[in-house]
Amino acid sequence: MIVKDQIIILKEVEYKDYHKIIHGFSRNNGKISFLARNARKPKNKNISSLKIFSYVDVVLYKGKGLPILNNSEIINNFYKINDDYNKFIYACYIAELLNNIAIEEPNEKIFEMVLKFFTLIEKYKNISNVVTGFELKLISILGFRPQLSLCVSCHSKTYKSFSINQGGLICSNCQRNDDYTMKINNKDIINLKKILNSRFEEIQEMNIPIHIKKIVRNYLMYHIDKYDFKSLKLLEVL
Ligand SMILES: [Zn+2]
Repeated sequence: MIVKDQIIILKEVEYKDYHKIIHGFSRNNGKISFLARNARKPKNKNISSLKIFSYVDVVLYKGKGLPILNNSEIINNFYKINDDYNKFIYACYIAELLNNIAIEEPNEKIFEMVLKFFTLIEKYKNISNVVTGFELKLISILGFRPQLSLCVSCHSKTYKSFSINQGGLICSNCQRNDDYTMKINNKDIINLKKILNSRFEEIQEMNIPIHIKKIVRNYLMYHIDKYDFKSLKLLEVL
């Protein structure tokens, strides 16, 4: 069966002498992996340009086993991401993140968000805010939009902290039974709501304190149950 799709490449793995296995996120089929035969032969111009982060039109042959790439055409390879170490590492982090969550069904929202993310980080100098925006929007799309108006446990209107495991504000009473909370104030809540409701272009202009970035990252990692990212370790070295 021949399948046409568009993919964003998240990972390339060398396979045997000349081949590659490509792991990507596709527009029509969710996460997808396929074999690119002879992709590492220099003569094979079309296929050898299949690199991480590239946005590609693909034609796949689906039979038994791993689908095989028949044809591909690059739409955008976001090559400027590779010019800046920080941008490259953050893009690797987003790829690693998507590689580690199951998206079996097509998800147009996440697909478009990844394309937008790569497009914007190519041109922005400081991308840390956009990364935070991506993290919070992603976890919300995955079904963990945080409760930012009431105590997530008893629904009272008072709150003291943010509960990472329960996913929202938490009052001092309920906090006693919750050992994974982080302090939060009114301004922080306004910031979080603004990140959730704004476009990346606006998030880029915001002043987001570092502890909010930490809350967002901890929240995301807790709910996807992964804390160990090779890419982020490279950032800590800087
Ligand atoms: Zn409560």
